Amino acid sequence: MRILVTGGAGFIGSEFARAVLRDELPGSEGAQVTVLDKLTYSGNLANLDPVADNPRYRFVHGDIADPALMDEVVAGHDVIVHFAAETHVDRSIQSGLAFAHSNVLGTVTLLEAALRHRVGRFVCVSSDEVYGSIAEGSWDEGCRVNPNVPYAAAKAASDLMALSYQRTHGLDVVVTRCTNNYGPYQFPEKVIPLFVTSLMDHKPVPLYGDGRNRRDWLHVSDHCRGIQLVLNGGRSGEIYHIGGGAELSNVELTERLLEAFGAGWDLVEWVPDRPGHDRRYSLDTTKIREELGFAPRIAFDDGLAVTIRWYRENRAWWEPLQERAVWSRPEQRDVPMTTV
Ligand code: NAD
Repeated sequence: MRILVTGGAGFIGSEFARAVLRDELPGSEGAQVTVLDKLTYSGNLANLDPVADNPRYRFVHGDIADPALMDEVVAGHDVIVHFAAETHVDRSIQSGLAFAHSNVLGTVTLLEAALRHRVGRFVCVSSDEVYGSIAEGSWDEGCRVNPNVPYAAAKAASDLMALSYQRTHGLDVVVTRCTNNYGPYQFPEKVIPLFVTSLMDHKPVPLYGDGRNRRDWLHVSDHCRGIQLVLNGGRSGEIYHIGGGAELSNVELTERLLEAFGAGWDLVEWVPDRPGHDRRYSLDTTKIREELGFAPRIAFDDGLAVTIRWYRENRAWWEPLQERAVWSRPEQRDVPMTTV
């Protein structure tokens, strides 16, 4: 099998590429992996260093919105697992342009190439944020999207476009919508690595609004196992939710992180809430559990402890990235920092 992994130099895509190349995902053993990535601020070839010498791995530098390049790169692949996207909510509030370019135009350009080259399966990796906010209960896959921030709207457009290519053209598309991921190699402007790398250096951490916004957390390796299950056995044209069942408010998450570093609340800087900040996300994951046998393997507290250890042991990976994470330090910030 030849798999094209777009955005494979980012946090989740690189986990997926490493796992396939290490034969850790049943169904993809022995697969050839092409990683296609634009290497934006969050794309980092160092994420692929552990598999760089694998003869089954190839890297292509480029933009998914480039039709000529996509025509060339997509040819010969059996499967596309599509991660490439602009992903940072705060950046989307500053400007939605790059989000429309990569998440919408880029996805459509890729779908066109997939159609032309008769790719066997197209997995579109999407997010719970497309649904907006839910006060109680959980969304199932039949719920309508209702995004509130430009990042989420661009992701909704991306995954709806993918589904439309299944319905209109018969392209074999499956969509996954997942909750918040955490784990190693996450760019240090997202909340967990930001807090971990700041607390490690006794620096303050920013918390939005009243800190009561709630998110469900899933370890990135569990997310990739879920994607692989959908790739192997998901039904064409269907959406599958992937979640961790570890719902926490930002205050509860902060408490755990402060405790891990023996730090107190004096290191927390309360900052004004951000516009369009969704209060709560929650996915019903019955479908992927019952149809495909998915269950997260890593309990949140265990995964968090291992993740903290990884950041402690890999300063050489994250320290140079702080230059690119323009809002990563409170003293550098002119807008409040995100907490998702
Ligand atoms: P990330 O920002 O770490 O990685 C995104 C990657 O895409 C980067 O390597 C970047 O260089 C690349 N990229 C961006 N625009 C591109 C373009 N036009 N052409 C080619 N490459 C491009 O993000 P992530 O957290 O790894 O997220 C990966 C995917 O998973 C995204 O689609 C995101 O919406 C989705 N997702 C993320 C989460 C989460 O909690 N991080 C949760 C659910 C879904």
